[in-house]
Amino acid sequence: MSKYISIENLKFALFELLESDKLFALDHYKDLDKDSVNIMMDAIKDYADKSMYPVFKEMDQQPAVYEDGKIIVHPAIGRFMKDAGENGWIGPTFSYEDGGMQLPHVFHTAASHIMECANNNMTGYTGLTGGAANLIATYGTSTLKEMYVSNMLEGKWAGTMCLTEPQAGSSLSDIITSASPQTDGSYKIKGHKIFISGGDHEYSENFIHLVLARIEGAPLGTKGISLFAVPKNRITDNSGLEYNDVLTAGEFQKMGQKGYCTTHLVFGENDDCYGHLVGAENQGLKNMFQMMNGARIDVGMTAASVATAAFYASLQYAQERSQGRRILPGGVKNVEAQQTSIINHPDVKRMLLLQKAVTEGSIALLLQASLYHDLSHHSSEEDKEKYHLLLELLTPIAKTYPSEMGRVSISNGLQILGGYGFCTEFSLEQYYRDIRIMSLYEGTTGIQSLDLLGRKVVMKNGETMKLLTKEIIASIAAASNYDDLKPYADKLKSASKNLEQVVMHLLQFAMSGNHERYIADATIFMEMMSNVVIAWQWLKMATTAKTALVTGNTIQTSEFYESKIHTMRFFFKYELAKNNGFKETLMDPDSLTILEDKKSVLA
Ligand SMILES: Cc1cc2nc3c(=O)[nH]c(=O)nc-3n(C[C@H](O)[C@H](O)[C@H](O)COP(=O)(O)OP(=O)(O)OC[C@H]3O[C@@H](n4cnc5c(N)ncnc54)[C@H](O)[C@@H]3O)c2cc1C
Repeated sequence: MSKYISIENLKFALFELLESDKLFALDHYKDLDKDSVNIMMDAIKDYADKSMYPVFKEMDQQPAVYEDGKIIVHPAIGRFMKDAGENGWIGPTFSYEDGGMQLPHVFHTAASHIMECANNNMTGYTGLTGGAANLIATYGTSTLKEMYVSNMLEGKWAGTMCLTEPQAGSSLSDIITSASPQTDGSYKIKGHKIFISGGDHEYSENFIHLVLARIEGAPLGTKGISLFAVPKNRITDNSGLEYNDVLTAGEFQKMGQKGYCTTHLVFGENDDCYGHLVGAENQGLKNMFQMMNGARIDVGMTAASVATAAFYASLQYAQERSQGRRILPGGVKNVEAQQTSIINHPDVKRMLLLQKAVTEGSIALLLQASLYHDLSHHSSEEDKEKYHLLLELLTPIAKTYPSEMGRVSISNGLQILGGYGFCTEFSLEQYYRDIRIMSLYEGTTGIQSLDLLGRKVVMKNGETMKLLTKEIIASIAAASNYDDLKPYADKLKSASKNLEQVVMHLLQFAMSGNHERYIADATIFMEMMSNVVIAWQWLKMATTAKTALVTGNTIQTSEFYESKIHTMRFFFKYELAKNNGFKETLMDPDSLTILEDKKSVLA
């Protein structure tokens, strides 16, 4: 079997970089230790090798389809839901009372990485089920919890997230699905939801849809949206199941992630669909954000994982494919010599290093964000707020950077295969198609960028940015202890200052009331800030590697640590350097996308 993941890198990030095992000192996690989480990850890797990776290509070739009112998916999904339920992988972070193992999120994210590297078409089914169950456990009544949560965590029933409607994609304030209160406390639900991932298939006996809808008479906009748990089959008085008028109207045929079904659902076509409110009336979007924020980290990790698997596929190819000869001093080529492996050509090495820099930088950021999540729930009161704000700020970046740059990195990986990269015989073209969705669903890159610049950067009067800068300064100070890392610490200091200058420059527009101008180039700002954040992660990784080499306190080979330092240098030279151009664009007084006469510029 081909290599599709680096478990060494994952363990380096978890234990050496983030020291996540320190969490076990907290009361909530006191029953866990490093050995038990290592055993769990090894078991997941074994499962991924045997049951997930072998069907990765097959699921692409046998896409989910709609036939006779049913969605047909690959049978591996049925086995996976069952196995994941039995092994406790659907809700491992849940408390003991709610049926979980109180696993920190950082280890759950790591476990997802292993599975997603093996097969990114499968994990969404369990990820959404766990997310939906978590929403019910957090905001639902005890009756709702009893009705749904255990069946979902056991993998018998599936969960979904139903936000999108034909006229309400990015703009959720335009949702029109309606909810009418009934005398028994339930609500009659009516409306169409489209693009629903994992929305229906034959391997779950029931689906619990978490639906955003508007209660009759609710205010317009997002302030009038409520959240409902709407089962496909409702529980009868004698604990059986009866159809709840949730019709499966079709399946979207897609360019990638073909094994992960995407369904059109119609609620209440026969006026016989009932759901229950989850949380308070009109608080639906706010509550749904709990699931959406988790899903954004999940999407980021899926993207990083697809790009990781692609990296190892192109690395293997580059080692095996011979083509051309190295240029000798004086520009001479010895045509009598054997052809060299393409990995020896600087341009191919550059593409491989880009893949490594993007994927390992992304993984470090995603695990960092997940650790902040754990600390925001289980540390001291004062620290909880700090970690919560850091997580809020980093979430749009953790979703977007791996999705956008993961795609670029896979494109480079495909390039390494030359013409074979374009052929279905190799997996690169599938990875390239699969990753494309990541920058679209769970909020497009445009919407994440608006969230970053429009909300997160200015949250609590800029407290979020201050906290991040503090973290970055601490990492700069640690790196500066090593002479060979100091120049990179200085570069990050100056990149961080440049980012600050850009924020101050843009804020002038917001303060003068020109909000459209403030956020017009939010996506460019996202690119610039992401580079600072990933450079920070790389500097931290290089410092950790250097410390291991200097102290001899190592759990990996010296080549592993040296390669970390080399890749950090690569990231700073080839990626962080781009921030000078981003700064120039963001501070340019010319405003070319906001024009009165929009037609003329595109004529
Ligand atoms: C495979 C797949 C699975 C999905 N799974 C789910 C799911 O499980 N549940 C669910 O509810 N939804 C799901 N979706 C829906 C997905 O979240 C939406 O497609 C996405 O939010 C974008 O909405 P839209 O497609 O209507 O695009 P639009 O909102 O029409 O956006 C089109 C373009 O306009 C830009 N744009 C829109 N508004 C603005 C603005 N205010 N400022 C700047 N730019 C803007 C966008 O960035 C985008 O580039 C899924 C979609 C797909 C394709």
